[in-house]
Amino acid sequence: MEVKDMICIVCPLGCNLKVIRDNRSQIGYVVEGNKCLRGVDHGIKEMTNPTRVLTTTIRISNAPLKRLPVRTSGPIPKHLIMQAMELINRVEVKTPIKVGQVIIKNILDTEVDVIASRSMYQNFKQEDYLKDYLVQG
Ligand code: SF4
Repeated sequence: MEVKDMICIVCPLGCNLKVIRDNRSQIGYVVEGNKCLRGVDHGIKEMTNPTRVLTTTIRISNAPLKRLPVRTSGPIPKHLIMQAMELINRVEVKTPIKVGQVIIKNILDTEVDVIASRSMYQNFKQEDYLKDYLVQG
């Protein structure tokens, strides 16, 4: 019997899940240890198609910092994380960058973009940053 222990990462409670392969169940798995139904979804997804939101940094020139924080706009398959990192590490952007700006469109054909997690300008002006965050909501 295939059994996998994991921690649910959907909320800060971090329930200890046990996901058991069970062909008698309609979805093929039974999940134990979850305090809510999101844990069931998470446990099954981890067994069938695990995904993660990738957060990292990218090289930036003409800026007060050497690296710009970026993240994927949604989760991507876990097995593509290393490939995505290799691609991200080959890219360098230039100021000005606005928070939410697309840095790499449709990375590895996942239909997910890599976007800037913050704005960055050549010269620091607090008003520019505040404006960007107010526009983003
Ligand atoms: S099972 Fe529900 S309560 Fe437990 S960590 Fe996951 S989301 Fe949170």
